[in-house]
Amino acid sequence: MPKDLRSFIAELESRYPEEVARVTKPIAPRYEITALLTQLEKQKRFPLLFCENVEGADAPVVINAQASRKLMALALECQPAELANRFSEKQGKPIAPVEVETAPVHEVVKTGDDVDLTKVPLLTHYDVNAAPYITAGIVVAADPDTGVRNTSYNRLMMARKRELRIFMAIGRHLWTLHNKMELRNEPLPVAIVVGVHPLFSLGAQAFTPSTEDEYAVIGGMMGEALRVAKAKTLPVLVPADAEMVIEGKILPKVRREEGPFGEFTGHAVSKDERPVIEVTAITHRNNYIFQDVHAGYTEHKLMGAVPREAALIKAVRLTVPTVKNVCMPVSGNCRFHAYISIGKRTPGQAKNAICAAFASDMLLKHLVIVDEDIDVFDEEQVLWAVSNRFQADHGLVVIANAQGSELDPSAGPGGVNAKMGLDATKPLTGFAPELRVPDEVMKRIRLEDFLPHLR
Ligand code: MN
Repeated sequence: MPKDLRSFIAELESRYPEEVARVTKPIAPRYEITALLTQLEKQKRFPLLFCENVEGADAPVVINAQASRKLMALALECQPAELANRFSEKQGKPIAPVEVETAPVHEVVKTGDDVDLTKVPLLTHYDVNAAPYITAGIVVAADPDTGVRNTSYNRLMMARKRELRIFMAIGRHLWTLHNKMELRNEPLPVAIVVGVHPLFSLGAQAFTPSTEDEYAVIGGMMGEALRVAKAKTLPVLVPADAEMVIEGKILPKVRREEGPFGEFTGHAVSKDERPVIEVTAITHRNNYIFQDVHAGYTEHKLMGAVPREAALIKAVRLTVPTVKNVCMPVSGNCRFHAYISIGKRTPGQAKNAICAAFASDMLLKHLVIVDEDIDVFDEEQVLWAVSNRFQADHGLVVIANAQGSELDPSAGPGGVNAKMGLDATKPLTGFAPELRVPDEVMKRIRLEDFLPHLR
Protein backbone atom coordinates (compact mmCIF):
# COMPACT_ATOMS: atom_id res chain seq x y z
CA MET A 1 0.00 0.00 0.00
CA PRO A 2 1.41 3.41 -0.91
CA LYS A 3 2.24 5.83 1.91
CA ASP A 4 -0.58 8.37 2.13
CA LEU A 5 -2.43 10.34 4.79
CA ARG A 6 -5.03 7.66 5.54
CA SER A 7 -2.44 4.88 5.85
CA PHE A 8 -0.48 7.07 8.28
CA ILE A 9 -3.56 7.75 10.43
CA ALA A 10 -4.47 4.04 10.41
CA GLU A 11 -0.93 3.13 11.48
CA LEU A 12 -1.01 5.71 14.30
CA GLU A 13 -4.38 4.47 15.52
CA SER A 14 -3.22 0.87 15.67
CA ARG A 15 0.29 1.43 17.10
CA TYR A 16 0.04 4.74 19.02
CA PRO A 17 -3.69 5.41 19.65
CA GLU A 18 -2.80 8.12 22.21
CA GLU A 19 -1.39 10.22 19.35
CA VAL A 20 -4.81 10.59 17.65
CA ALA A 21 -7.71 12.61 19.07
CA ARG A 22 -11.06 12.19 17.31
CA VAL A 23 -13.71 14.93 17.59
CA THR A 24 -17.14 13.47 16.90
CA LYS A 25 -19.33 16.44 17.92
CA PRO A 26 -20.23 18.91 15.15
CA ILE A 27 -17.70 21.74 15.04
CA ALA A 28 -17.49 24.87 12.87
CA PRO A 29 -14.51 25.55 10.59
CA ARG A 30 -14.62 29.22 11.57
CA TYR A 31 -12.64 29.71 14.83
CA GLU A 32 -14.01 26.64 16.63
CA ILE A 33 -11.36 24.11 15.58
CA THR A 34 -8.67 26.69 16.45
CA ALA A 35 -10.34 27.14 19.86
CA LEU A 36 -9.78 23.43 20.59
CA LEU A 37 -6.22 23.52 19.31
CA THR A 38 -5.36 26.58 21.38
CA GLN A 39 -6.46 24.81 24.56
CA LEU A 40 -4.51 21.65 23.70
CA GLU A 41 -1.47 23.82 22.95
CA LYS A 42 -1.72 25.45 26.38
CA GLN A 43 -1.53 21.98 27.92
CA LYS A 44 1.44 21.20 25.65
CA ARG A 45 -0.49 18.38 23.98
CA PHE A 46 -0.17 17.85 20.25
CA PRO A 47 -2.20 14.84 19.10
CA LEU A 48 -3.24 14.56 15.47
CA LEU A 49 -6.74 16.05 15.63
CA PHE A 50 -9.37 14.33 13.47
CA CYS A 51 -12.60 16.37 13.24
CA GLU A 52 -15.16 13.94 11.83
CA ASN A 53 -18.14 16.27 11.62
CA VAL A 54 -17.27 19.74 10.31
CA GLU A 55 -20.34 21.93 9.94
CA GLY A 56 -21.29 22.78 6.36
CA ALA A 57 -18.45 20.71 4.94
CA ASP A 58 -18.36 17.60 2.76
CA ALA A 59 -15.24 16.16 4.41
CA PRO A 60 -13.57 15.65 7.79
CA VAL A 61 -10.57 17.79 8.73
CA VAL A 62 -7.21 16.53 9.99
CA ILE A 63 -4.86 18.97 11.68
CA ASN A 64 -1.62 18.76 13.72
CA ALA A 65 -0.13 15.92 11.61
CA GLN A 66 3.21 17.77 11.82
CA ALA A 67 2.91 19.23 15.31
CA SER A 68 5.48 17.18 17.22
CA ARG A 69 8.99 15.89 16.77
CA LYS A 70 7.72 12.64 18.22
CA LEU A 71 5.31 12.09 15.28
CA MET A 72 8.02 13.04 12.77
CA ALA A 73 10.41 10.61 14.44
CA LEU A 74 7.79 7.85 14.20
CA ALA A 75 7.42 8.58 10.48
CA LEU A 76 11.20 8.71 9.87
CA GLU A 77 11.82 5.72 12.19
CA CYS A 78 14.43 7.38 14.38
CA GLN A 79 14.82 9.17 17.71
CA PRO A 80 13.68 12.82 17.88
CA ALA A 81 17.28 14.06 18.38
CA GLU A 82 18.37 12.20 15.21
CA LEU A 83 15.77 13.80 12.90
CA ALA A 84 18.04 16.22 11.04
CA ASN A 85 20.73 13.63 10.33
CA ARG A 86 18.16 11.03 9.30
CA PHE A 87 16.48 13.57 7.01
CA SER A 88 19.85 14.41 5.37
CA GLU A 89 20.59 10.74 4.81
CA LYS A 90 17.22 10.26 3.03
CA GLN A 91 17.54 13.53 1.11
CA GLY A 92 20.75 12.14 -0.36
CA LYS A 93 18.90 9.16 -1.88
CA PRO A 94 16.15 10.52 -4.19
CA ILE A 95 13.79 8.07 -5.95
CA ALA A 96 12.25 9.08 -9.30
CA PRO A 97 8.41 9.18 -9.42
CA VAL A 98 6.44 6.57 -11.38
CA GLU A 99 3.47 7.47 -13.59
CA VAL A 100 0.21 5.54 -13.16
CA GLU A 101 -2.96 5.52 -15.28
CA THR A 102 -5.56 5.33 -12.51
CA ALA A 103 -5.27 7.66 -9.55
CA PRO A 104 -7.37 7.62 -6.35
CA VAL A 105 -7.14 11.45 -6.31
CA HIS A 106 -9.19 11.43 -9.53
CA GLU A 107 -12.11 9.43 -8.11
CA VAL A 108 -14.06 12.72 -8.06
CA VAL A 109 -13.28 15.39 -10.68
CA LYS A 110 -14.88 18.83 -10.77
CA THR A 111 -14.18 21.31 -13.55
CA GLY A 112 -15.77 24.48 -14.93
CA ASP A 113 -18.85 25.67 -13.05
CA ASP A 114 -18.67 22.67 -10.69
CA VAL A 115 -15.51 24.09 -9.10
CA ASP A 116 -16.53 25.63 -5.78
CA LEU A 117 -13.98 26.31 -3.04
CA THR A 118 -16.75 27.36 -0.65
CA LYS A 119 -17.77 23.66 -0.40
CA VAL A 120 -14.28 22.64 0.79
CA PRO A 121 -13.80 22.82 4.60
CA LEU A 122 -11.31 25.70 4.57
CA LEU A 123 -10.69 26.96 8.09
CA THR A 124 -10.74 30.50 9.39
CA HIS A 125 -8.28 30.38 12.27
CA TYR A 126 -8.42 33.88 13.82
CA ASP A 127 -10.61 36.94 13.92
CA VAL A 128 -7.88 38.96 12.21
CA ASN A 129 -7.81 36.65 9.13
CA ALA A 130 -9.36 38.21 6.04
CA ALA A 131 -10.98 34.99 4.79
CA PRO A 132 -10.75 31.19 4.98
CA TYR A 133 -7.30 29.91 4.02
CA ILE A 134 -5.70 26.74 2.69
CA THR A 135 -2.75 26.26 5.05
CA ALA A 136 -1.67 22.69 4.23
CA GLY A 137 -1.53 23.20 0.46
CA ILE A 138 1.70 22.07 -1.21
CA VAL A 139 2.12 24.01 -4.43
CA VAL A 140 3.72 22.03 -7.26
CA ALA A 141 5.09 23.94 -10.24
CA ALA A 142 7.48 22.89 -12.99
CA ASP A 143 10.23 25.03 -14.46
CA PRO A 144 8.97 25.87 -17.99
CA ASP A 145 12.48 25.39 -19.44
CA THR A 146 13.82 22.35 -17.59
CA GLY A 147 10.63 20.62 -16.37
CA VAL A 148 12.16 20.31 -12.89
CA ARG A 149 9.39 20.31 -10.30
CA ASN A 150 9.34 22.47 -7.19
CA THR A 151 7.16 21.92 -4.14
CA SER A 152 6.45 24.47 -1.43
CA TYR A 153 3.94 25.33 1.24
CA ASN A 154 2.29 28.70 0.56
CA ARG A 155 -0.62 30.32 2.29
CA LEU A 156 -3.64 30.53 -0.03
CA MET A 157 -6.58 32.81 0.64
CA MET A 158 -9.98 31.90 -0.72
CA ALA A 159 -11.30 34.93 -2.60
CA ARG A 160 -14.13 33.47 -4.70
CA LYS A 161 -15.53 30.08 -5.75
CA ARG A 162 -12.73 29.72 -8.27
CA GLU A 163 -10.11 32.20 -7.09
CA LEU A 164 -7.27 31.94 -4.61
CA ARG A 165 -4.64 34.53 -3.71
CA ILE A 166 -1.14 33.42 -2.87
CA PHE A 167 1.83 34.61 -0.81
CA MET A 168 5.23 33.64 -2.25
CA ALA A 169 8.42 34.62 -0.40
CA ILE A 170 10.65 36.84 -2.54
CA GLY A 171 13.52 35.04 -4.22
CA ARG A 172 12.36 31.52 -3.37
CA HIS A 173 11.85 28.91 -6.08
CA LEU A 174 8.11 29.34 -6.67
CA TRP A 175 8.45 33.13 -6.75
CA THR A 176 11.27 32.73 -9.30
CA LEU A 177 9.18 30.43 -11.54
CA HIS A 178 6.23 32.81 -11.46
CA ASN A 179 8.55 35.74 -12.18
CA LYS A 180 10.01 33.88 -15.19
CA MET A 181 6.54 33.25 -16.66
CA GLU A 182 5.35 36.76 -15.89
CA LEU A 183 8.19 38.21 -17.97
CA ARG A 184 6.75 36.14 -20.86
CA ASN A 185 3.24 37.32 -19.98
CA GLU A 186 2.14 33.71 -19.41
CA PRO A 187 0.39 32.03 -16.46
CA LEU A 188 2.24 29.47 -14.30
CA PRO A 189 0.29 26.18 -14.00
CA VAL A 190 0.20 24.90 -10.42
CA ALA A 191 -1.22 21.88 -8.62
CA ILE A 192 -2.10 22.43 -4.98
CA VAL A 193 -1.79 19.15 -3.09
CA VAL A 194 -3.76 18.72 0.15
CA GLY A 195 -3.74 15.67 2.43
CA VAL A 196 -0.48 13.71 2.38
CA HIS A 197 1.72 11.43 4.50
CA PRO A 198 4.01 13.42 6.87
CA LEU A 199 7.06 12.09 4.97
CA PHE A 200 5.64 13.72 1.83
CA SER A 201 5.32 16.98 3.80
CA LEU A 202 8.92 16.71 5.03
CA GLY A 203 10.30 15.96 1.57
CA ALA A 204 8.31 18.82 0.05
CA GLN A 205 10.12 21.22 2.38
CA ALA A 206 13.66 20.02 1.67
CA PHE A 207 16.17 22.72 0.76
CA THR A 208 17.22 21.74 -2.74
CA PRO A 209 18.93 23.45 -5.66
CA SER A 210 16.46 24.50 -8.37
CA THR A 211 17.92 21.75 -10.60
CA GLU A 212 16.67 18.93 -8.36
CA ASP A 213 13.21 17.43 -8.90
CA GLU A 214 11.34 17.57 -5.60
CA TYR A 215 9.04 14.64 -6.45
CA ALA A 216 12.22 12.53 -6.39
CA VAL A 217 13.21 14.01 -3.02
CA ILE A 218 9.74 13.16 -1.67
CA GLY A 219 10.12 9.60 -3.01
CA GLY A 220 13.47 9.29 -1.23
CA MET A 221 11.94 10.53 2.02
CA MET A 222 9.10 7.97 1.76
CA GLY A 223 11.45 5.19 0.66
CA GLU A 224 9.22 4.43 -2.34
CA ALA A 225 8.59 6.02 -5.75
CA LEU A 226 5.87 8.66 -5.61
CA ARG A 227 2.93 7.55 -7.79
CA VAL A 228 1.91 10.39 -10.12
CA ALA A 229 -0.82 10.86 -12.74
CA LYS A 230 -1.67 13.42 -15.42
CA ALA A 231 -3.65 16.38 -14.08
CA LYS A 232 -7.10 16.96 -15.59
CA THR A 233 -6.73 20.53 -16.85
CA LEU A 234 -2.99 21.26 -16.81
CA PRO A 235 0.23 19.82 -18.27
CA VAL A 236 1.39 18.74 -14.77
CA LEU A 237 1.78 15.37 -13.03
CA VAL A 238 0.04 15.20 -9.65
CA PRO A 239 0.48 12.82 -6.69
CA ALA A 240 -1.96 9.95 -7.29
CA ASP A 241 -2.54 9.14 -3.61
CA ALA A 242 -3.13 12.66 -2.26
CA GLU A 243 -6.52 13.31 -0.69
CA MET A 244 -7.17 16.35 -2.90
CA VAL A 245 -5.56 18.31 -5.73
CA ILE A 246 -6.61 21.81 -6.74
CA GLU A 247 -5.49 22.66 -10.27
CA GLY A 248 -5.01 26.23 -11.41
CA LYS A 249 -2.72 28.87 -12.81
CA ILE A 250 -1.02 31.86 -11.27
CA LEU A 251 -1.99 34.72 -13.55
CA PRO A 252 0.67 37.04 -14.95
CA LYS A 253 0.58 40.73 -14.00
CA VAL A 254 -2.51 40.43 -11.81
CA ARG A 255 -2.39 41.49 -8.15
CA ARG A 256 -5.31 41.63 -5.75
CA GLU A 257 -5.66 42.15 -2.01
CA GLU A 258 -4.45 39.26 0.21
CA GLY A 259 -4.39 39.18 4.02
CA PRO A 260 -4.30 39.89 6.88
CA PHE A 261 -3.28 36.40 8.03
CA GLY A 262 -2.05 35.06 11.38
CA GLU A 263 1.49 33.88 10.58
CA PHE A 264 4.05 31.56 12.21
CA THR A 265 5.34 34.39 14.41
CA GLY A 266 2.06 34.47 16.32
CA HIS A 267 1.43 37.90 14.80
CA ALA A 268 -0.71 38.82 11.82
CA VAL A 269 0.80 40.15 8.62
CA SER A 270 -1.04 43.00 6.97
CA LYS A 271 -2.88 42.90 3.68
CA ASP A 272 -1.12 43.69 0.42
CA GLU A 273 -1.56 43.28 -3.33
CA ARG A 274 -0.51 39.71 -4.16
CA PRO A 275 -0.74 37.24 -7.10
CA VAL A 276 -3.97 35.50 -8.05
CA ILE A 277 -4.69 31.84 -8.90
CA GLU A 278 -7.54 30.96 -11.23
CA VAL A 279 -8.73 27.49 -10.21
CA THR A 280 -9.47 25.18 -13.15
CA ALA A 281 -10.28 21.90 -11.36
CA ILE A 282 -10.79 20.32 -7.97
CA THR A 283 -10.16 16.58 -7.76
CA HIS A 284 -10.34 14.35 -4.70
CA ARG A 285 -10.66 10.80 -3.43
CA ASN A 286 -13.99 9.29 -2.43
CA ASN A 287 -14.54 10.16 1.26
CA TYR A 288 -11.59 12.55 1.13
CA ILE A 289 -9.93 13.92 4.25
CA PHE A 290 -9.13 17.61 4.21
CA GLN A 291 -5.86 18.61 5.87
CA ASP A 292 -5.08 21.86 7.63
CA VAL A 293 -2.15 23.33 9.57
CA HIS A 294 -2.59 24.97 12.98
CA ALA A 295 -1.37 28.33 11.67
CA GLY A 296 0.56 30.61 14.01
CA TYR A 297 1.16 27.88 16.62
CA THR A 298 3.39 24.85 17.13
CA GLU A 299 2.44 22.86 14.03
CA HIS A 300 3.07 25.84 11.78
CA LYS A 301 6.40 26.61 13.46
CA LEU A 302 7.62 23.02 13.59
CA MET A 303 6.59 21.74 10.17
CA GLY A 304 9.71 22.99 8.37
CA ALA A 305 12.13 22.69 11.29
CA VAL A 306 13.78 19.39 10.36
CA PRO A 307 14.56 20.31 6.72
CA ARG A 308 16.00 23.63 7.96
CA GLU A 309 18.08 22.00 10.68
CA ALA A 310 19.39 19.45 8.16
CA ALA A 311 20.44 22.24 5.78
CA LEU A 312 22.08 24.16 8.63
CA ILE A 313 24.14 21.19 9.89
CA LYS A 314 25.35 20.58 6.34
CA ALA A 315 26.38 24.23 5.90
CA VAL A 316 28.18 24.49 9.24
CA ARG A 317 29.93 21.13 8.72
CA LEU A 318 31.78 22.58 5.69
CA THR A 319 33.58 24.95 8.08
CA VAL A 320 33.38 23.11 11.41
CA PRO A 321 33.54 19.35 10.70
CA THR A 322 32.86 18.53 14.36
CA VAL A 323 29.40 20.13 14.44
CA LYS A 324 27.29 17.74 16.51
CA ASN A 325 23.66 18.83 16.38
CA VAL A 326 21.34 21.73 15.60
CA CYS A 327 18.00 22.67 17.12
CA MET A 328 15.73 25.39 15.79
CA PRO A 329 13.38 25.63 18.76
CA VAL A 330 9.69 26.46 18.75
CA SER A 331 10.50 29.50 20.97
CA GLY A 332 12.15 31.07 17.92
CA ASN A 333 9.37 29.92 15.56
CA CYS A 334 11.80 27.19 14.35
CA ARG A 335 13.23 29.90 12.12
CA PHE A 336 14.69 32.81 14.07
CA HIS A 337 16.68 30.94 16.78
CA ALA A 338 19.19 28.13 16.33
CA TYR A 339 21.24 26.30 18.96
CA ILE A 340 24.30 24.59 17.53
CA SER A 341 26.58 22.22 19.43
CA ILE A 342 30.14 21.72 18.23
CA GLY A 343 33.11 19.67 19.35
CA LYS A 344 35.40 22.66 19.68
CA ARG A 345 38.97 21.78 18.63
CA THR A 346 40.47 25.22 17.83
CA PRO A 347 39.84 28.51 19.67
CA GLY A 348 37.97 30.38 16.90
CA GLN A 349 35.60 27.67 15.71
CA ALA A 350 32.47 28.95 17.43
CA LYS A 351 32.79 32.22 15.48
CA ASN A 352 33.28 30.30 12.24
CA ALA A 353 30.12 28.34 13.00
CA ILE A 354 28.27 31.65 13.48
CA CYS A 355 29.50 32.94 10.09
CA ALA A 356 28.59 29.70 8.31
CA ALA A 357 25.12 29.54 9.84
CA PHE A 358 24.17 33.13 9.01
CA ALA A 359 25.54 32.74 5.48
CA SER A 360 23.35 29.72 4.85
CA ASP A 361 19.96 30.71 6.28
CA MET A 362 18.50 34.14 5.67
CA LEU A 363 15.71 33.74 8.23
CA LEU A 364 18.09 33.10 11.16
CA LYS A 365 18.32 35.93 13.65
CA HIS A 366 19.78 34.62 16.93
CA LEU A 367 22.36 31.88 17.25
CA VAL A 368 23.85 30.21 20.29
CA ILE A 369 26.92 28.04 19.83
CA VAL A 370 27.49 25.55 22.66
CA ASP A 371 29.93 22.75 23.44
CA GLU A 372 29.09 19.13 22.67
CA ASP A 373 28.19 18.36 26.30
CA ILE A 374 25.09 20.56 25.96
CA ASP A 375 21.86 19.01 24.63
CA VAL A 376 20.59 21.54 22.08
CA PHE A 377 17.04 20.19 22.45
CA ASP A 378 17.01 21.20 26.14
CA GLU A 379 16.63 24.99 26.32
CA GLU A 380 17.45 25.00 30.02
CA GLN A 381 20.87 23.54 29.26
CA VAL A 382 21.42 26.03 26.42
CA LEU A 383 20.57 29.00 28.67
CA TRP A 384 22.77 27.48 31.42
CA ALA A 385 25.68 27.55 28.95
CA VAL A 386 24.89 31.19 28.09
CA SER A 387 24.84 32.14 31.76
CA ASN A 388 28.15 30.40 32.59
CA ARG A 389 30.27 30.26 29.43
CA PHE A 390 29.38 33.49 27.60
CA GLN A 391 30.91 36.96 27.95
CA ALA A 392 29.36 39.67 25.81
CA ASP A 393 32.56 41.70 25.27
CA HIS A 394 34.28 38.97 23.22
CA GLY A 395 31.60 36.30 22.69
CA LEU A 396 29.00 38.43 20.95
CA VAL A 397 28.72 38.92 17.18
CA VAL A 398 26.25 41.50 15.84
CA ILE A 399 25.55 42.12 12.17
CA ALA A 400 23.45 45.18 11.42
CA ASN A 401 21.08 45.72 8.49
CA ALA A 402 21.04 42.23 6.99
CA GLN A 403 18.19 40.58 5.10
CA GLY A 404 15.86 38.66 7.38
CA SER A 405 12.29 37.47 7.23
CA GLU A 406 9.64 39.82 5.83
CA LEU A 407 7.38 38.25 8.45
CA ASP A 408 9.58 39.28 11.42
CA PRO A 409 7.28 41.78 13.15
CA SER A 410 10.22 43.76 14.60
CA ALA A 411 12.21 43.97 11.34
CA GLY A 412 12.56 47.12 9.27
CA PRO A 413 11.05 47.66 5.81
CA GLY A 414 11.54 44.66 3.48
CA GLY A 415 12.53 42.40 6.37
CA VAL A 416 15.90 44.04 7.06
CA ASN A 417 16.98 43.05 10.57
CA ALA A 418 19.96 42.46 12.87
CA LYS A 419 21.73 39.16 13.45
CA MET A 420 23.17 38.15 16.81
CA GLY A 421 25.51 35.23 17.48
CA LEU A 422 26.50 34.11 20.98
CA ASP A 423 29.64 32.06 21.51
CA ALA A 424 28.71 30.13 24.67
CA THR A 425 31.57 27.64 24.39
CA LYS A 426 34.31 27.19 26.98
CA PRO A 427 37.91 28.09 26.21
CA LEU A 428 39.89 24.99 25.20
CA THR A 429 41.92 24.94 28.45
CA GLY A 430 41.81 26.29 32.00
CA PHE A 431 38.05 26.50 32.56
CA ALA A 432 36.43 25.78 35.93
CA PRO A 433 35.74 22.05 36.40
CA GLU A 434 32.16 20.76 36.36
CA LEU A 435 30.47 18.81 39.10
CA ARG A 436 30.73 15.03 38.86
CA VAL A 437 30.14 12.11 41.16
CA PRO A 438 32.91 9.52 40.64
CA ASP A 439 31.95 6.94 37.96
CA GLU A 440 32.47 4.00 40.30
CA VAL A 441 29.93 5.45 42.78
CA MET A 442 27.38 6.29 40.05
CA LYS A 443 27.50 2.64 38.92
CA ARG A 444 27.12 1.27 42.46
CA ILE A 445 24.42 3.54 43.93
CA ARG A 446 21.30 2.85 41.84
CA LEU A 447 18.00 4.68 42.30
CA GLU A 448 15.96 1.49 41.92
CA ASP A 449 17.88 -0.17 44.79
CA PHE A 450 17.64 2.69 47.25
CA LEU A 451 14.20 4.08 46.33
CA PRO A 452 12.33 1.14 44.77
CA HIS A 453 8.91 2.63 45.53
CA LEU A 454 9.74 5.87 43.66
CA ARG A 455 8.33 5.30 40.19
MN1 MN B 1 12.42 24.28 -3.93
